[in-house]
Amino acid sequence: MRSFQVADFHAPLKEVEQPTPQPSGTQVLIKVKAAGVCHSDLHIWEGGYDLGHGRKPLSLKDRGVSLPRTMGHETVGEIVAFGPDVKEADKGDLKVGDVALVYPWLGCGQCTTCVAGDENMCLRPQSLGVYCDGGYADHMTVRHPKYLLNLKGLDPVTTAPYACSGVTTYSALKKVEKDFDTPIVIFGAGGLGLMALSLLKAMGGKGAIVVDIDARKRDAAEKAGALATVDGSAPDALEQLTKKAGEPIRAVIDLVGNAATTQLGFDCLTKGGKLVIVGLFGGGAPWALPLIPIKAITIQGSYVGNLRETQELLDLVRAKKIPPIPVTTLPLAKANDALVDLQKGRLVGRAVLVP
Ligand SMILES: [Zn+2]
Ligand SMILES: [Zn+2]
Repeated sequence: MRSFQVADFHAPLKEVEQPTPQPSGTQVLIKVKAAGVCHSDLHIWEGGYDLGHGRKPLSLKDRGVSLPRTMGHETVGEIVAFGPDVKEADKGDLKVGDVALVYPWLGCGQCTTCVAGDENMCLRPQSLGVYCDGGYADHMTVRHPKYLLNLKGLDPVTTAPYACSGVTTYSALKKVEKDFDTPIVIFGAGGLGLMALSLLKAMGGKGAIVVDIDARKRDAAEKAGALATVDGSAPDALEQLTKKAGEPIRAVIDLVGNAATTQLGFDCLTKGGKLVIVGLFGGGAPWALPLIPIKAITIQGSYVGNLRETQELLDLVRAKKIPPIPVTTLPLAKANDALVDLQKGRLVGRAVLVP
């Protein structure tokens, strides 16, 4: 099998040829059909996160990410073989030849958090494409068939990003579901922002005002059905938001997560409002502490989503025929170029690698 691996943080990905693994135990071997390139792959590639206030960057190496590593946590593949310990009941509706989305946010599988179904919150993460090898390859093994969600006719390339950007967005939207009768303010009109717009509509929301500093991305958001857009770098961005909302803003989803967006997101909220931070751009918290109690603001973090939410999302996509977000397909051999394009902000929508 061929894969593209991070051999050193920051260094170009290395092409590696090795024998295709045979699935052991309860593993499933898949032939990769599509692998999304995610912004968080940049953080893995760069080796960490900026924590602001001159703090030492949050190092992924210290958190157990070892190299070499095949990235890729938005993977769709065709089932090639089940391991010897997979029972018929484990397979559910899956058989060899079926095409499935890989749920990548695996935990240890044993702690109370994992047993409760929130493997994405496990303290001993084994996420595919982060702590274990992922989909920047032509083949991949998955620990157990329960992490493979049958596409049942959905398109592999446009469905792949649902494993990360999709479920991340879905889980964040669920955290502000009670405010769906008001305009939601969404920061960031990249891949996640465009996905948030279509999911919000499918979930029955009134709509969203999208903030982005890039005019091309605001354009894409308007085409995707945003109620309005605002340039976050405009000196009167706050006034524009208030005016365009036309009513108190009760919910903000920040898909960027830097000091400027979380500041504006916080400032535009009405009393009792909620700021959900999803983006990992980095930096330090900008808020004046007394305003958090005075405005009774809830600030909540949201990190990907669990297996149940991922299944709900695929069911929603199928039932509501959610239109695919714009994707750019690239051959797997261009994995490195895709990362560089993403780093330089040259991509509109999502890059998906196809072996
Ligand atoms: Zn991701
Ligand atoms: Zn666990």
